[in-house]
Amino acid sequence: MTRTVFRFVDHTVTPDTAPDAPPTWHRFRCLGEDEAGRACGAQSPGGEDFAAEQRWTFEHFRDHRDHTSYAQATERPWLIVPGRTGAACRR
Ligand SMILES: [Zn+2]
Repeated sequence: MTRTVFRFVDHTVTPDTAPDAPPTWHRFRCLGEDEAGRACGAQSPGGEDFAAEQRWTFEHFRDHRDHTSYAQATERPWLIVPGRTGAACRR
């Protein structure tokens, strides 16, 4: 007969700041509309350089003077680690 003992351990999710963590990534998307009310949806290329991504909004605005509204998306690596500090998930 085999016997197994399980132990429940609290875990925390925290930003992954390790040197080998994936890079933080940014992108901007135009929220402007054309004359027919269709969403523009143009997007910056996406990348690690926030300033370069932000600069794309001005480049897009230069060609579309009425497109003044943008959404920013950021992807940041997070890590689940054992422990009780920060936001925790209990099951
Ligand atoms: Zn646009």
